[in-house]
Amino acid sequence: MRVAVVGVQGDVEEHVFATKRAMRNLGVDGEVIATRKRGVVAKSDAVILPGGESTTISKLIFREGIAEEILLAAEEGKQIMGTCAGLILLASEGDEQVAKTGTKLLRLMDISVRRNAFGRQRESFQCSLNFEGVGEVPAVFIRAPAITRIGKDVKPLAHLNEFVVAAQQKNILALAFHPELTEDTRIHEYFLRNALKS
Ligand code: GLN
Repeated sequence: MRVAVVGVQGDVEEHVFATKRAMRNLGVDGEVIATRKRGVVAKSDAVILPGGESTTISKLIFREGIAEEILLAAEEGKQIMGTCAGLILLASEGDEQVAKTGTKLLRLMDISVRRNAFGRQRESFQCSLNFEGVGEVPAVFIRAPAITRIGKDVKPLAHLNEFVVAAQQKNILALAFHPELTEDTRIHEYFLRNALKS
């Protein structure tokens, strides 16, 4: 199995390591490749869009033609996981910050997102979440977005306060937090298991 981590900006290496550890735990033979150019996503079985700055990541993936490859991979039924800024890019609808910055979205999931939804006082925090199908997981939030609306085909997987913070729509998985920043690899394993099935 080959997993591409879109590496134009953000916490790329952490996702590469977490995915490799998850592969080892599952006994999956595979490779994980961080990429800044087109070509790799098209030849991969699954794609990860890391956190970072959604405005920057958006600009670069559309400029480099990676966005087009992600859209095609999604259409082919490959598993796509977006975390934090990656979640924003997967959304069908952004908020006024997304509009103001002219951030182009991939619109692969029928959700509305709010950037920096947890406010300034609580820019970064760690908590425990009940993640459907996985159990209690540690979750790191860094200037995190939240999902404020989900479409009828979207399954919420975790909640925090009044928000949905993890959701799945068919082969698309979106997380408001950073599973790659803890030792716990169960969410990456959940993602890889779905990729093995598809
Ligand atoms: N606040 C960032 C954004 O809106 C996301 C933060 C993150 O990915 N850790 O793009």
